[in-house]
Amino acid sequence: MNKFIFVSGGVCSSLGKGVAASSLGALLEGRGFNVRMVKCDPYINVDAGTMSPYQHGEVYVTDDGAETDLDLGNYARFTSGPLSCANSITTGQIYDAVIRKEREGRYLGRTIQVIPHITDEIKRRILAVANESPDNDVVIVEIGGTVGDIESIPFLEAARQMIHEMGRNNAISVHLTLIPEVAGAELKTKPTQHSVKAMQELGIQPDILICRSPVMLDEATRRKIALFTNVENEAVIVSYDVDTTIYQVPLVFYEQKLDQIALKKMGVEVRHANLSAWYSMMDKFNARNGRVRVGVVGKYMELHDAYKSVYEALFHAGLACGVEMEIVKIDSAQLETVPNLDDVLGSGGGAPVDGVLVPGGFGERGVDGMAQAAAWARTRKAPYFGICLGMQVMVIEWARNVLRWENANSTEFSHDTAYPVVSLLEDQVDVQMMGGTMRLGNSESHVREGTLLKSAYGEAVIHERHRHRYEFSNKYRAGMTGSGLVISAFTHDNALVESVEWPDHPWGVGVQFHPEFKSKPTAAHPLFTAFVEAVIKNAAGRKKQGA
Ligand code: GLN
Repeated sequence: MNKFIFVSGGVCSSLGKGVAASSLGALLEGRGFNVRMVKCDPYINVDAGTMSPYQHGEVYVTDDGAETDLDLGNYARFTSGPLSCANSITTGQIYDAVIRKEREGRYLGRTIQVIPHITDEIKRRILAVANESPDNDVVIVEIGGTVGDIESIPFLEAARQMIHEMGRNNAISVHLTLIPEVAGAELKTKPTQHSVKAMQELGIQPDILICRSPVMLDEATRRKIALFTNVENEAVIVSYDVDTTIYQVPLVFYEQKLDQIALKKMGVEVRHANLSAWYSMMDKFNARNGRVRVGVVGKYMELHDAYKSVYEALFHAGLACGVEMEIVKIDSAQLETVPNLDDVLGSGGGAPVDGVLVPGGFGERGVDGMAQAAAWARTRKAPYFGICLGMQVMVIEWARNVLRWENANSTEFSHDTAYPVVSLLEDQVDVQMMGGTMRLGNSESHVREGTLLKSAYGEAVIHERHRHRYEFSNKYRAGMTGSGLVISAFTHDNALVESVEWPDHPWGVGVQFHPEFKSKPTAAHPLFTAFVEAVIKNAAGRKKQGA
């Protein structure tokens, strides 16, 4: 069974197309279908790897090392199908492939055009995902951007052709729009009508509409939308704002039979739905008792999406541990100007944080502030979780403050430091091209007995994803461990340090990899859970002391 669902968006961006597509995927998986998710991004970048987190949010990394759009993170949190470079298609990749073929002379002298050459390449890439396994049932293709954008036209044209060629019972269109509320609390359907018209002009009649609205729409409004857009009444689904969590969205859609309607339109027999994982996740959400505060000290704080997977993983761990997670976003560069960190992180600030997390990042700005936050957590015995740059910062801080190696640093931030405790790997030294050349993707780490890492994972061999150029410098391994720093994981050949821990401290762990990419609302990541357990303990201890 090879069915295709194209998810497009209209009216404006940031309506939650990724969450809508993923939620539909989750529902179809709940009915026992094998779902594959694909994101088409209309930008010309080959991948998201070279984009600033300020502009485009987090770069999500797959096992095979693709640096992708953050929507793949949504797919990973809501659905369980494999994700690789095949699931992320950009205009840059499509043109790159077509131009390469043209240079190889493979088009036999023809004039290369957007239609059919670019659209054919898009279709080829989408079909390749469907054909990856004979077990694949449904491919959900999310088309980035908003209908009306020049950039997304070739993707929508490819979708139109696939719907036409395969027939409407094999490929359908789901269109997401906005029902805005204007002054006087009136809900307006006109933008939705215009958005569907824009789709129709491109030759696509949406089969299903998902309308983002602040509240559930009444029957009359839904009928009106259906009438003016040529969509069946029952296929006008309302994605109303939930005041719980985005993970309730699959259940909101389920109540309105979105998955059943999609299956019916594709001529597929509806199977029994098992959504127990989602219901029990919501039960956990409602049963949370108590609240902890985690200070996330990073450099891209203004944009929530820049550390999206980290925030989500903290929330998942909170669910697993039965607590509400309050994330306090702290700009590390600003910390550098604060004389006493107790005034920001400790009780001097009124509401102290119960733990500190330093996430990944690139470039020098704010790194000293991160090191100060690490020093604060180490000396105040507050739980600390360092991820990628956050681990490198832990190593730098240890060298500076415990070993008294003045100005110890990473060579990413200082070339003339006398103590380059974090430095480039040999094979990175001559790298000129920035895109796709870091240490990327899944790799195996061996965890040492008796460490916090071992008790979190419970396993001696773990697999996590990487995205970095710099490493713990092996030249300083003896000095570091000699002074007490614990190395808790290595690559299989002991060649690279994968994680460090503080001695005589309740929970201070830094990992060179990115565990946040593997956390799900229905299955929190063990390392995040261990961190949050330590955070809860710290909060309880402080309460007891009346601090
Ligand atoms: N900038 C650091 C490096 O390249 C850390 C990268 C990260 O945190 N993802 O090694």
